[in-house]
Amino acid sequence: MLESKIKESFTTVEISLPDIIKLLLDLKDEFNIQNSDVDTIVKAVKLDNEKSKKQRDYLYNRIKEHINTCQSCLLYAQENHTHKVAGEGALNSPLVLIGEGPGFDEDKQGRPFVGRAGQLLTTILNKMDIRREKVYITNVIKCRPPQNRTPLQKEIKACSKNLELELSLIQPKVIIALGAVPLNYFKSGSSIMRERGQWINSRDYWIMPTFHPAYILRQHGKTLNKVKWLVWQDFNEAVAKAKEMCPEYDFSS
Ligand code: SF4
Repeated sequence: MLESKIKESFTTVEISLPDIIKLLLDLKDEFNIQNSDVDTIVKAVKLDNEKSKKQRDYLYNRIKEHINTCQSCLLYAQENHTHKVAGEGALNSPLVLIGEGPGFDEDKQGRPFVGRAGQLLTTILNKMDIRREKVYITNVIKCRPPQNRTPLQKEIKACSKNLELELSLIQPKVIIALGAVPLNYFKSGSSIMRERGQWINSRDYWIMPTFHPAYILRQHGKTLNKVKWLVWQDFNEAVAKAKEMCPEYDFSS
């Protein structure tokens, strides 16, 4: 009964349905949740109270476990691979930021956006009075490709089950797509140069494509100032929409 309601309620890609179903049924067992439909469970998990926080912690640990045991493509078996990198942050956030994949620092620490680009991302968020912990930050793929090459289409497809699991649980209102890879994940054949700053409404998400922080770090002089300004504008638009759609959510404390 619960399983059929879960199937009806989630509008994720086919590949993630069994994972999300299993996870929510386990949550129901773990917390002895009685006679609740999926909408009620997901809404309850997002509430601002101790019980909901415990349920979010449980779900986050299960997401990490799911990703850490993944062998769906060969990136985990690369010679210099150290850690798989799950997303991190608030599972009840209306705003999710998605990058391309882990780099050197992320691979070593097992955390997303902790290198120079990640520090810049955190600075941008803080300047907007947003605590990094109050949004969810993740990547399209969870293992570092060799020499930081762009992930292959087959790797992106294999890893989509992990990203879709994260998105199915969070159900964000707004997504900031950081660079060409996450942009093309939602709208294939797109150009980040042409389409940054333009809203995409797809699968119940408002998606704002913008430049990856690593791209900002590669710019100099006047181009650097221009790119910084564009990214600042894109972030402001995305955050304003998330606040408009979820006025009760507190991004700053
Ligand atoms: S990149 Fe993704 S699909 Fe490939 S092994 Fe790592 S977690 Fe699994």
